Amino acid sequence: MARSTASLRDALRVRPGTRVKLANVDPSATHGHTKESAADELTAGLAGLTDLQDRLWAEGKHKVLVVLQGIDAAGKDGTLRHVMGAFNPQGCPVTSFKVPSADELAHDYLWRVHRAVPGKGEIGVFNRSHYEDVLVVRVHDIVPKTVWSRRYDQINAFEQLLADSGTTIVKFFLYIDRDEQRERFQARLDDPTKRWKFRLGDLEERKRWDDYIAAYEDVLARCSTAAAPWYVIPSNRNWFRNLAVANILADTLDELNPRYPEPTEDLTGVVIE
Ligand code: ADP
Repeated sequence: MARSTASLRDALRVRPGTRVKLANVDPSATHGHTKESAADELTAGLAGLTDLQDRLWAEGKHKVLVVLQGIDAAGKDGTLRHVMGAFNPQGCPVTSFKVPSADELAHDYLWRVHRAVPGKGEIGVFNRSHYEDVLVVRVHDIVPKTVWSRRYDQINAFEQLLADSGTTIVKFFLYIDRDEQRERFQARLDDPTKRWKFRLGDLEERKRWDDYIAAYEDVLARCSTAAAPWYVIPSNRNWFRNLAVANILADTLDELNPRYPEPTEDLTGVVIE
């Protein structure tokens, strides 16, 4: 899969220094893939991911940080289940960032984030992330503009530090449009097995759609760097979202070329009785 659809990684990456106008991005785009062909591609891609992570974990050398962001109902949980589900949980710590606790608020905003970054051999996944500190925090004026506006540079410096310390960073923005969000919210209301996901507060956030889009556009414009690129994933169609994320992850891990390590002791002639 890494080879057949390698162009997705190029097509969806936000080039450093460019400004993406999300109104010009089609969240239903499928980049030439079809739902029918995607099923087999995804199965193969996930098998590839399982193999790559097994080697990465065994080698214990590389650290990989995956950031998942998206407006409510964009599919962060589904991506975790369907794509990261290919990984052995032992080597794939997932951290979900919620409203900061009192203890977290007593520290700088990157404190809780830095403690959660992956160690050697791990693929650490952030379900929401430090970007909330320039998204929800900005949209709701939780801190003054003079404070949040300095965070883009701080985040770039933080991510550069991680990269300089051997961390490969991949950031996914799952992009759905407002109509799709309405349908997904409605489905949550209608389906008793999904209703628990719905909160009235979601509707308040939905009213601030344009503010969130503007905040995301600034994140993409200011924080997509060579060391830590953002990918905008058209996510109206779950199957394409899964395929694109799996594909980009596979290409990224493939490049690290993880290898099973040699045994640390001489095992020649060992006989097991
Ligand atoms: P999710 O929506 O991710 O499935 P929750 O329903 O628990 O999980 O929502 C987590 C909430 O925490 C979101 O509304 C998010 O905006 C909020 N949050 C995350 N990080 C921060 C932060 N740094 N400051 C304020 N709110 C935050």
